[in-house]
Amino acid sequence: MAFPNLNNIAFSVEKQSPVTITKATFPLRYGTYSEIRTSEYEFIFNLNGEIKFIRGLNVNWPHPAAQLKRTDGNDWVYYSVGDVSGDGGIISWMGEYYLPCLPYPSNAVWEVNYFANPGIMDAFAAWSQLYANLYGAQKAGLHPKIKDLISRIMRNHDGELYKRSQKLNTIIGGRVTVLPPDTRHVDYEIIPIIIADGCLYHCDFCCVKSAQNFHKRSANDIIEQIQQLKVHYGRNIQNLNALFIGNHDALAAGDELICFTASEAFKSFFFENARAMTPFLFLFGSVDSLLNSKHELFEKLSQLPYYTCINIGFESIDASTLNFIQKPVDVSKVRAAFQKMLEISDSYTNIEITGNFLMGEQLSSEHYQSLAKLLRETSSPSKKRGAIYLSPLKDSPKKRELLPRFFEIKNQSKLPVYIYLIQRL
Ligand code: SF4
Repeated sequence: MAFPNLNNIAFSVEKQSPVTITKATFPLRYGTYSEIRTSEYEFIFNLNGEIKFIRGLNVNWPHPAAQLKRTDGNDWVYYSVGDVSGDGGIISWMGEYYLPCLPYPSNAVWEVNYFANPGIMDAFAAWSQLYANLYGAQKAGLHPKIKDLISRIMRNHDGELYKRSQKLNTIIGGRVTVLPPDTRHVDYEIIPIIIADGCLYHCDFCCVKSAQNFHKRSANDIIEQIQQLKVHYGRNIQNLNALFIGNHDALAAGDELICFTASEAFKSFFFENARAMTPFLFLFGSVDSLLNSKHELFEKLSQLPYYTCINIGFESIDASTLNFIQKPVDVSKVRAAFQKMLEISDSYTNIEITGNFLMGEQLSSEHYQSLAKLLRETSSPSKKRGAIYLSPLKDSPKKRELLPRFFEIKNQSKLPVYIYLIQRL
């Protein structure tokens, strides 16, 4: 029996790729996934049958290495490879070979409005067409494994994918409005668990803060999240290898809650199973939570079976800038926290602390001069760890003009420096 709607469609029900993520100029796949190819597009699905990537194979597609990615928050993000390839291209300012172009307002330095590009938008029509063709072929006499894949994909129609993203927010008690920049190391594929809400400062410039004062969640709340997340991620949990302990200042929650959560998640999400790479643990911290963190916390973190990345919001080392953005910390504290960041990254092979500073047309030359001096004069021996991220202010005009300024600072820095774009889960 022939299935005209399935002509020229190639199914790979389960493809195995390495689990370890490597940075490459071409999009690599990781873990176990399903692939459907037509003559014009490549569609990638996770083990639950949820669409994850679409890559164009036709002449209208902007670049063979560009692709669309659907996040667990159900955003379609376009991965552009920019207009210069190789080491002088996007990797020199993002640390990755692609630029995530977001479908919602953020702090872009280079705005790519992919909605206005028919060559990209046609991919969504192709996805709808594929879904319709698969729907029509469900009852056909296909191989049982292909039938099973099709039924998984059918269950995860657009309405269901939206519902699942809302369900994720319900489980963790809110949306993750910003991910740490270090999550780029796992292509932003993390399992979120919220251990504390609110933050210590409520800075004026911040576009992701919540109105809540800082408060910790209970151990019961965390266990409940873990149990529900395990069900929510289903079979695809085997492809996930990273935990984000949120929200905006999880470091302030203290060693007991952090280590408890990381250990429980490690067991429940089967991180102990033989995966090829050490799981990542990501969290945000603040100047005060880093300064208040005792030696024991880092000792305990170093005993965990994770590679831990803690990202600290410094914003500026200039007093008038801190005042301008209404961040209630003084320069001496920023300097002390910066020094502590270097010491921790130097002391532990499996803990890395990274830091964020601001960029923007609105900021003074004192801000840039003091930042360049700090990064130029740093005495960290481990020059490859403890990256610095420069985050454009959201309403910064002349965004692309920020890049030369970024390179001016990067070229003076003894630490790696990258751009930080605010991405939600
Ligand atoms: S920058 Fe960090 S500390 Fe300041 S308001 Fe935003 S989340 Fe809170």
